[in-house]
Amino acid sequence: MLIRKRLKALCCLMVLSLLFVACSSNKSSKELTQFKETQLILGTLGQITVYSDSEKKANEALSKAFSHIDEIENVMSTSKDSSDIFNLNKEAGLQSVEIDPSTMNLLIKGVEYYHTTKGSFNIAIGSLINLWGIGEEWQKLPSKDEISEAKTHIDLDQLEISKEKGTAFIKDPDMLLDLGGIAKGYAVDKGVDVLKENGIENGLVDLGGDVFALGNKPDGNPWRIGINNPEIGVNNSIARISVANKSIVTSGDYERYFIENDKRYHHIIDPSTGFPSESELVSVTVVSDTSTDGDVISTAAFVLGLGEGLELIESLPGVDGILITKNKEVYVSSGLKDNLEILDDDFKVVNN
Ligand code: ADP
Ligand code: MG
Repeated sequence: MLIRKRLKALCCLMVLSLLFVACSSNKSSKELTQFKETQLILGTLGQITVYSDSEKKANEALSKAFSHIDEIENVMSTSKDSSDIFNLNKEAGLQSVEIDPSTMNLLIKGVEYYHTTKGSFNIAIGSLINLWGIGEEWQKLPSKDEISEAKTHIDLDQLEISKEKGTAFIKDPDMLLDLGGIAKGYAVDKGVDVLKENGIENGLVDLGGDVFALGNKPDGNPWRIGINNPEIGVNNSIARISVANKSIVTSGDYERYFIENDKRYHHIIDPSTGFPSESELVSVTVVSDTSTDGDVISTAAFVLGLGEGLELIESLPGVDGILITKNKEVYVSSGLKDNLEILDDDFKVVNN
């Protein structure tokens, strides 16, 4: 009898303490306030949102994250003189250049990705990017000869990296590096690291569509991230997914382009043709553990096209994707099939 009573009391205590834990965690999560900062950075609109119980802590985390992203831009930009990439390109064919450890990291990763993506992602593509100049004042439709000539200067084997010395050297004087397809994703990841180091557990880092959803939403539910309508661009979600602690990155032909003779020339170049990649795809969204991976794989899958692009995504552990075609057909990788919620009926999931 006594034992039963004790058991009952113990049970009551357990239920009470569980209730207390539930209430207290609920209460503390309700006390989190949203803080947001927007800056023009890395050639795009960057927005970081954090949740915190302290304004001071939140503002400190936001400003440290942005200044770290700014540092990344200062070493990886192709246009800022004195950046590592600017110096490497300037000294191409002449001499090796001392580079920041983060640039070293990305160059090494760039070479690895070149192989995983069957050469469709190539950080040595600068001569072609420059020639087309998509989004720059000098953008133009180049001649076939100019394209063939530029294509002879995108051989990554011409990049010599010495990790021990902290230096790199472009042997081909006409080769140019361009980290435009990876630096933004890398910057998102580093921004997230800074937030975590500063005690932030819930937030969103968004650099022009390269997004990382840190933790859960403060109410404990996963973040709902919209997939843009590729015909319209930002703020027009045709679908959404629920994620926590994941990166969501989209590459699309609607982001930067010019039109000539009714044809759209966009900023994702197929290294095998030297032209903006042509396939049935209008956008590829990649969901992965890091935005560096997502940035690269979304660009690579876009270049590879629907079949090979989806194959690449399926072959990489922890990586998922949503590929949208010109006909508004939506292809979803196996890991996202139960997660994707279509919001616009014009778009149909076709590979379920
Ligand atoms: P966005 O910058 O709009 O998010 P992406 O992530 O797809 O788009 O990256 C496109 C940028 O990557 C281009 O502006 C260019 O700097 C670079 N780039 C274009 N084509 C390639 C490619 N095949 N491999 C590597 N980088 C590329
Ligand atoms: Mg990319």
